[in-house]
Amino acid sequence: MPPITSRLPGVGTTIFTVMSQLALEHRAVNTGQGFPDFEPPPELCERVSYHMGAKHNQYAPMAGVVALREAIAAKALRLYGRRASPDSEITVTSGGTDALTTSILALVHPGDEVVLLDPAYDSYQPIVELAGGRTRRVALARPGFGIDWECLAAALSDRTRLLMVNSPHNPTGACLDAADLDHLATLLRPTRAFVVADEVYEHMVFDGRPHASINAHPELRERGVVVSSFGKTYHATGWKVGYTIAPPALTAEVRKLHQFVTFATASVLQYAIADFMIAHPEWEAELPGFYQQKRDRLVALLRPSRLTLAPARSTYFQLVDYSALSDLPDTEFALELVRRHGVVAIPVSPFCAAPPPGERLVRLCFAKEDATLVQAAERLARI
Ligand code: PMP
Ligand code: GLN
Repeated sequence: MPPITSRLPGVGTTIFTVMSQLALEHRAVNTGQGFPDFEPPPELCERVSYHMGAKHNQYAPMAGVVALREAIAAKALRLYGRRASPDSEITVTSGGTDALTTSILALVHPGDEVVLLDPAYDSYQPIVELAGGRTRRVALARPGFGIDWECLAAALSDRTRLLMVNSPHNPTGACLDAADLDHLATLLRPTRAFVVADEVYEHMVFDGRPHASINAHPELRERGVVVSSFGKTYHATGWKVGYTIAPPALTAEVRKLHQFVTFATASVLQYAIADFMIAHPEWEAELPGFYQQKRDRLVALLRPSRLTLAPARSTYFQLVDYSALSDLPDTEFALELVRRHGVVAIPVSPFCAAPPPGERLVRLCFAKEDATLVQAAERLARI
């Protein structure tokens, strides 16, 4: 074999895969990797079977099944007041990951700078590297993980090609509000930077707050790509169906990539999701209440423990501070948690270029049955 020169020499196995593997080995409660341990709505699964029988088993159109793109357009108009053309502005992708990858590869040229806000979801940096770009990582402000506007302003320059924004934010559970988006628009106005907005947790914002989507921001939505994922919205992370919404010229570039990265996304799943979206427009409005109850349950269950926390404002992740329990760095603490205490948590430092020294935070996923949350909390309280 000729010598291999890795395109991603610094990349190992993702922290999610590592921790889920350990969960199996140690028969631990898996409150680590973000996936529900409950099923999608039965009616949605029934529509998948139906469409298999209805001969929808061949390639879908490259940009996505028309009925699904129309359902996404109807949702974007209903929830965010955005009139997006199913023909030229909406593309169905194989999960949020495909949407993010194709968007970054479509926008970033060798030598371009891309600003990531730390902690940043793990898939952004490697794709920027593949595109030949360089990342500038700007730490979110502690303790609330809002944007540090001064640091962001200092990081933007005429070399900046792209700003990645993730709201609701994994792993911190923070989210931006409408004033933040205005601030962002003002900062970006004099630059040539695009925005890729990772909004895969768009329907998990709590305590009565609205989700401030870039879809609803007339200026920002013109300079970027909004990414979402049905995996999160319909408790079906294994299906890997997501989408992008972007102005026609950007969508054309995203599709050039999408057609060669995967070409098209699983047909039956697209038809089934379209049916369910049309039949259940109330689903998105009910999801925040569903997950808020789970968040509140986890927060209450953790009260007897020595963990400290501020309830997550969004996503299905809760950060907990374990400084009262241990001085170990977060990855070592997470390894000890799974090995000695049978609970999986995700450390925050793998999401950061330079984790603040002394930060003692791990992430728990509350997209879990009550029994799972109870078991995890009991084990955590015993430490
Ligand atoms: N972005 C963020 C912030 C995520 O947490 C995830 C998934 N866990 C994704 C993107 C990827 O979404 P998908 O699973 O649909 O590829
Ligand atoms: N995004 C999920 C999480 O944050 C994991 C997805 C993955 O394993 N790639 O837990």
